[in-house]
Amino acid sequence: MSEDCLFCKIIAGDIPSNKVYEDEDVYAFHDISPAAPTHILIIPKKHIAAVKDASAEDSRLLGALVLKAAEIARKQGLEEDGYRFVVNTGDNGGQTVFHIHLHILGGRRMSWPPG
Ligand code: AMP
Ligand code: ZN
Repeated sequence: MSEDCLFCKIIAGDIPSNKVYEDEDVYAFHDISPAAPTHILIIPKKHIAAVKDASAEDSRLLGALVLKAAEIARKQGLEEDGYRFVVNTGDNGGQTVFHIHLHILGGRRMSWPPG
């Protein structure tokens, strides 16, 4: 837990969220400003600011995060038409919250390259 981290406060229940899934390692909730018909964020409960700050000891946790994201996408009915995972990192990546989060985006066709 990082005292001044928005997502740590969401995990702790100090800031409300629309929860999709939770287990001992990860927490998933609807994005407050959806960029697609389905827009869910999945985060590790461990505070890691960005993927560049993760280490080998986080391999299992981050692997579980991606697999759980795929399971959530399937349960949300996104699998047949497809979906996109996004992990923004740093200023150029557009990261605004410095606690690792994977965006699960679906329900519309995505363009490439991203903006
Ligand atoms: P990023 O720009 O990749 O750092 O993504 C941060 C995401 O967090 C954005 O899509 C925001 O809409 C979302 N967000 C910010 N505050 C909240 C909140 N209180 N509850 C849910 N999502 C949030
Ligand atoms: Zn945090």
